[in-house]
Amino acid sequence: MTEGRLTPFFRDILGQDTLIERLREYIVDENTPHALLFVDKEGGEALPLALAFTRYLQCESPSEGDSCGRCRACLQMDTLAHPDVFPIFPVTKADSNDKPTSVDRLSDFRSMLSKEKRPLFSDWKTALRSENRQPQMYISEAEYLQHKLSYKSFQSKYRIVLVWLPELMNTPCANTLLKLIEEPPPGVIFLMVSTNPSAILPTIYSRLQRIRTATIPQNKIERYLSDHFGISSSAATEVSHLSQGNLRKALDLLRTENEGDYFSKFREASRILYLPIKGDPKLIKEKAEELHKLQRSEAIELLDIMLDVIREANSTIYGEPGCQYTRSEDKELVQQIANFQTLGMIPKMMEHIMTARAELSQNVMLKIVYFDLLVTLSLLFRGK
Ligand SMILES: [Zn+2]
Repeated sequence: MTEGRLTPFFRDILGQDTLIERLREYIVDENTPHALLFVDKEGGEALPLALAFTRYLQCESPSEGDSCGRCRACLQMDTLAHPDVFPIFPVTKADSNDKPTSVDRLSDFRSMLSKEKRPLFSDWKTALRSENRQPQMYISEAEYLQHKLSYKSFQSKYRIVLVWLPELMNTPCANTLLKLIEEPPPGVIFLMVSTNPSAILPTIYSRLQRIRTATIPQNKIERYLSDHFGISSSAATEVSHLSQGNLRKALDLLRTENEGDYFSKFREASRILYLPIKGDPKLIKEKAEELHKLQRSEAIELLDIMLDVIREANSTIYGEPGCQYTRSEDKELVQQIANFQTLGMIPKMMEHIMTARAELSQNVMLKIVYFDLLVTLSLLFRGK
């Protein structure tokens, strides 16, 4: 993708052709909603898509349905330095008197985007060196934005506020921002990108027009991997299958050279999921204590892999033959989970895991989240 450029083009986005068509039509019809919410899984196409759309909105001479890459606005977007584009993202406070804003950490954000076009929240925490402080958006952010938007635009028709992870706004920030979203100054468009929309303040959420990105078709990921990394077609097929339509996940799988890392986590996730089936409260408590030692990002990743296990277990029973990628040594364990997990139970299991995931991203204690989850699943397996 557009090596060296921080902002992609539409042509760099994988598997979102219908959405891109819709975004282009907004502009042709001069009907762009003033507050859009792109929803995707972590590492999905939502952030690159929102950035590509920002580039397109600002481009001075778009052609063939994409930005030109040569005009003043495009050159500014290459380095995410357009004067009418305001990227906003969660940041940390240095101390209790600090009034942090994204603009103070924009160079860190650029640096992250130069390394990862599809960043995870954990990448951002690394870039911020936030250690145990949970990044969020403070009222100082909203006030700064209010101030900036009180001036006229510098050079373009649109002023774009790009909000990455609006679910991490604290309430005072959200309330202040709400006023701007309700009555935006002329030409102001809010583009928000969320991986956890249920955690967005409802008053804000209800004002956003939602766009859910599509899962990237497996063959597109395969082709991307073969084109960019020259790996064998069987490796590309396996990795793209495991990535479940998420290019970042595919790239991460590829990065962990022999893929051993993912598979060992898969086994751990299967073992955790097997505990509520056994239903021994002592073992559940011990496991929750053990998991408490994980980094928060690792604990979240483990929940995501538990979702993979549920899907794999499901396909063991209902899927087509050959659709299973569980390693042979893990097959028995996954089969045992599959024996207990009825089709009707799966949405509930996933919902409980997603709730635990939301709690983890809201700083609830790890052992409490995992203990509650395993007890809840254990009741579910017992039909309660
Ligand atoms: Zn241009």
